[in-house]
Amino acid sequence: MSQSIFTTPDLTVFAGLDQLGLVATGQCITKREAVIACDVVAADDYCQTCGSRARPIGTVKRQLSHEPFGARPTVLHVRIRRYRCDACARVWRQDTSQAAEPRAKLTRTALGWGLHALVVDHRSVLSICRDLRLSWNATNAAILAEGQRRLIDDPTRFDGVRVIGVDEHVWRHVRGRDKYVTVIIDATPVADGTGPSRLLDMAEGRSKEVFASWLQAQTQDFRDRVEVVAMDGFTGFKTAAVQQLPDAVEVLDPFHVVKLGADAVTKCRQRLQQQVFGHRGRAGEPLFRIRKLLLKGVDLLTDKQSRRVHEVLADERFLALRITWEAYQQLRSIYHQPTPEKAKTALTRLLERLKTSIPDGLRELRTLARTITKRAEDTAAYFDHPRTSNGPTEAINGRIEHLRGIALGFRSLAHYIARSLLETGGFRNQLLHPQL
Ligand SMILES: [Zn+2]
Repeated sequence: MSQSIFTTPDLTVFAGLDQLGLVATGQCITKREAVIACDVVAADDYCQTCGSRARPIGTVKRQLSHEPFGARPTVLHVRIRRYRCDACARVWRQDTSQAAEPRAKLTRTALGWGLHALVVDHRSVLSICRDLRLSWNATNAAILAEGQRRLIDDPTRFDGVRVIGVDEHVWRHVRGRDKYVTVIIDATPVADGTGPSRLLDMAEGRSKEVFASWLQAQTQDFRDRVEVVAMDGFTGFKTAAVQQLPDAVEVLDPFHVVKLGADAVTKCRQRLQQQVFGHRGRAGEPLFRIRKLLLKGVDLLTDKQSRRVHEVLADERFLALRITWEAYQQLRSIYHQPTPEKAKTALTRLLERLKTSIPDGLRELRTLARTITKRAEDTAAYFDHPRTSNGPTEAINGRIEHLRGIALGFRSLAHYIARSLLETGGFRNQLLHPQL
């Protein structure tokens, strides 16, 4: 146990008011809150215009939410003296900028405390605002602004980024039309094997233009350093990357490639279901029962599951599904090859097969073949740049989705972006170890 050195109990020091240029003069402690009455330490009684000493003309009270102690919110009632300079008639108040920003409702300490609670402890704004005895809106706006200033606006945030992922995300479900953002991920730590990816930025909308102008808005140094852009099948992102990052390699992400294949299987199954039975799949029907097994890799199926799949697919009426499923399995197996060379060979073999032998009536497989053939180079590029998958992007999407649960009702996209960045922008360590 370390040696404790005791000094006289002192509310000013205990509540950290000395750091704010305040001194405690009284306390009123109830079950609901602790109110500390304070004076401003610096007299501030010399006129800044003419240098004369001024005359006090009464006081005003400023209320500030402070960091909570224990389970109780702490509120400061700061008594601020007003002065009048008789020489030049100037009137002013004691300066409290050490304690809080002008017009702020939170002390600087409380801002730091709230930011830590949000970023490090992943607490909701609702629970933070209760501890600050402040409205949700005021708390949210204050903490996001502080996070923007201290973390998001930090220009070194973009240093060392070599691998980025770009994806789209629905940030708001609106009746009739969803609202999208383009999500940019820093996947460099994943590629280097040093840690998880982090959210780098978000931009409103999803289009070639959105991604292109985001890239344009970055420094030339940043654009020069990016080596790999991992993306989904959306052609717009590809075009933007080629234009703005001529030296970078575009990688079509395995996660999305496999998903394209899975979508083809599902669409084909649903089409045959309608064609053969005239209605959507129902519980207990053979095609419907294997719908999830079809999407698994054959290597992951138990013997029993595998038998079930093959029994159903042996039915001649489901021939189209069998062919699509086999192509899907071949597609999956590309990513399980032991070496990049073997993987590329396997990809070439699949492309050959898709080029030559798609019977009529396999429209889902045809679409899949078209997409992968068009993006064959980007699909193969993954094997030269392993671990540049947007899988991590999807994981971040999951965490952003989770935000919707704890922070319902983002009306402002700027707030939503700031909150998402604070949540998943990798700032945790920065707050925990500010010296790093
Ligand atoms: Zn004066």
